Amino acid sequence: MIIQDSMTANVLMTGRLAPGRAGESRRVAHVFEVDAASSSAEVLARCGESLPRTHIEWLAPGVGMPCESCLGLAGADLPRSPLSELGV
Ligand SMILES: [Zn+2]
Repeated sequence: MIIQDSMTANVLMTGRLAPGRAGESRRVAHVFEVDAASSSAEVLARCGESLPRTHIEWLAPGVGMPCESCLGLAGADLPRSPLSELGV
């Protein structure tokens, strides 16, 4: 008996723009949930950045400077102001 899974498989991958496609400061490692069954030209990172599939350098996990937005870190630490907390 063959059971076919009808769910599409999303693969979690990290990648960044390939060398020469952008300045080094824009080459942060984004997190992508890639639909293995999709053949779209663009892939959408968790942070909302859309990159052309052919311009992405796929990375092993932990390689490269991570995109803080993709990791959910951006905005997590709001700047604290001790003076306003003291009512000054
Ligand atoms: Zn990102």
